[in-house]
Amino acid sequence: METNNNLNPFSKITADKLKCVGEQYQTPLYVYDEALIKQRCKELNNLSAPYGKVIRYALKANTLAGILRIIDQAGLSFEASSLLEVLRAQHAGIAINKILLTSQETYDREGWQVLKPLLKQGLQLNLCSLKQLDDYSQNIQEPYPLSLRLHPGQGSGESASRNTGDAYACFGIHQRDLPAALQKIETAKLTVARIHMHIGSGGNPKLWLKHVDTQLKLIQEHFPAATILNLGGGLKEARMPEEKAADVHELFQEALKKVEAFYQKTGRQLILEIEPGSWIMANSGYGLTKIMDIKSTGAYDFLVCDGGMDLNLRPLLYGARHPLYLVRANGERLFSPFWDAGDRDYVVNGCCCESGDSQTLNALGEIEPRRLKQPEVGDYCIIGGLGAYGSSMAASNYNSHLAPAEVLVKENGETVLLKRRQNLNHLCQNEILYDEFL
Ligand SMILES: *Cc1c(COP(=O)(O)O)cnc(C)c1O
Repeated sequence: METNNNLNPFSKITADKLKCVGEQYQTPLYVYDEALIKQRCKELNNLSAPYGKVIRYALKANTLAGILRIIDQAGLSFEASSLLEVLRAQHAGIAINKILLTSQETYDREGWQVLKPLLKQGLQLNLCSLKQLDDYSQNIQEPYPLSLRLHPGQGSGESASRNTGDAYACFGIHQRDLPAALQKIETAKLTVARIHMHIGSGGNPKLWLKHVDTQLKLIQEHFPAATILNLGGGLKEARMPEEKAADVHELFQEALKKVEAFYQKTGRQLILEIEPGSWIMANSGYGLTKIMDIKSTGAYDFLVCDGGMDLNLRPLLYGARHPLYLVRANGERLFSPFWDAGDRDYVVNGCCCESGDSQTLNALGEIEPRRLKQPEVGDYCIIGGLGAYGSSMAASNYNSHLAPAEVLVKENGETVLLKRRQNLNHLCQNEILYDEFL
């Protein structure tokens, strides 16, 4: 019988395959699993919604053109967090009318000149503040259906910094500003077609559902023309074996029951929208690093890898825990937290000059060694759960490290390069040497 050389239960990419990819493209390296991305999109497409649904992939989770194309071909729509993200998606071939832009940004005249033709092509704009409302009505005369992001009042995320709904998070129009917003909407004769809330990333599913009620109440009381209920993203994905992912199917069903009850009460059929980023991408990506050195301070044993915070900033940013896999230089799996018992504690570091450049930190930013097995220099340490908020967020040029290459393992096992590794020229190309002024 073939021995199982996979790293986890959800991906079919074997340890040996990752080792080959690492050899071919050099570490550090991001590697993505096409089959898993497609499977996640399919699961979302299969959610049934009697009055219609739109699944928007949150572009900021991973904005690589090759990834966007897979998700586009799977039939999903998109959620953008900045105007440049919209333009980047357009560059990747995404149709503008599939994108909803929800941003904290406000735009000057130049910005509106960029926005106007995009709105004409069907870009949907989700207004998030009173100023954004004012700017919009001053710049746009066409009767485009509008979208409003409202502040939930109460949010939930995996950490405070990923909670986007409490008083310390300024996303969306706060309900204390609702009367002013309604006044502006009436004066400018705007039509609000969509109400949007996003309570945070990876938070409490019960609170996520509670906000369906909050939104429905607001729609009933204040937005007679609204036809779309957007519940945001934030559906939790489980990266570590002990974590529990959000049951998207169940959450969607529960939300639908509320939409159905709303219809019974009001005769209004609402389209349901969700905006998952992590849930689609997190487990579809790996960070491949090579162990360069093994050291000890007596108190702790360290694996020094050729990628750390420059590959995955999330541990340092909020103590996020990622599965760490060890693969022998010959492609044999040495350790997976899903299947193997470890026997030795390690602190796993990158090679930035920063003691916080560690993959083994807790939410307080303290070192929390991980139980692994004893590897050798030259073995691979592979960071799992890195398809979302990996390359899009990492401190990639710190210490003048080069942003890694990014590679896709296709369903048929072929590998394709989606992004070349940076070179020294990329680091320096926008710099102006002082000598030029002399
Ligand atoms: C970040 C974000 C998302 C996606 O969040 P995930 O936790 O990755 O699902 C969706 N909608 C908005 C408005 C966001 O800011």
